[in-house]
Amino acid sequence: MKLHFLGTGAGIPSRQRNVSSLALKLLDELNEIWLFDCGEATQHQILETTIRPRKITKIFITHLHGDHIFGLPGLLSSRSFQGGEDCLEVYGPKGIKDFIKISLKYSKSKLAYSLKITELVDRGGELIFDNGWKVNYLPLEHGILSFGYRVEEPDLPGQLLVEELKKFEIPNGPIYGQLKRGERVQLEDGRWIDGQNFLAPDRPGRIVTILGDTRYCQNSKVLARKANALVHEATHEAAEEKMARAYYHSTSHQAAQVAKDSQVEALYLNHISARYLGKALKQLEKEACSIFPNSHLVNDFDEYKIPLN
Ligand code: ZN
Repeated sequence: MKLHFLGTGAGIPSRQRNVSSLALKLLDELNEIWLFDCGEATQHQILETTIRPRKITKIFITHLHGDHIFGLPGLLSSRSFQGGEDCLEVYGPKGIKDFIKISLKYSKSKLAYSLKITELVDRGGELIFDNGWKVNYLPLEHGILSFGYRVEEPDLPGQLLVEELKKFEIPNGPIYGQLKRGERVQLEDGRWIDGQNFLAPDRPGRIVTILGDTRYCQNSKVLARKANALVHEATHEAAEEKMARAYYHSTSHQAAQVAKDSQVEALYLNHISARYLGKALKQLEKEACSIFPNSHLVNDFDEYKIPLN
């Protein structure tokens, strides 16, 4: 499980940063990639990575501001030419369906795969997928409806206690696979062995919270509670709290405060204004670290692994 930042800038593209997009790579877990937001030229950013668009199976849109969605029609169309035949699901606020359908209709774009667009309920809710993965979402405070998403991996079965099995002189072989699945197995010597007795406790699945643009607000903390990773915007430096509030954005301090109060493991700051370069950028990260030490100000193409606990 990895976070791969494709665009980390605020509002408009700059030489240093493209507009918003973030890939949650679930290649080992599901052989899928989930995309969060798709600002203009996200497909160009993807060309600089090893990401294959056909692996993108879900796209979550936080809100409908242009710097978060103008890349969608292009990416959706190109995916057709890149061998993308598997169904693609898009989730987002009301209006996302019209935006996509109309863009594709008037540009006479035909997709080679089926596209399922789901408009989410304004007050928030929960998406539960067949494979046990869950995504909770809640509205934040951004002037227009802006969602935060909390992705929850299902708990993972505990590992097989091989050393214990050896103590009982249970021979290695295909039987280990059955025991690992928690099955009861009879050995050649007639003994019955219950796999359940040789499994370590379940390992908790990981939680990743990715927030759309927002002011400092309570729902951010609800979504981020004890997450392994929190992605939070930091459009303003700490001294600009008033301005952040007026423009429905957050400061470095506020993002860090959310991380601290929610007891997350790591904070990733994105949606960085092009005004901040060099020293000012370092300062922004420092401000966050003064409240929540494990804060990282991210750049385009940064990749972070999210380890299991
Ligand atoms: Zn916005």
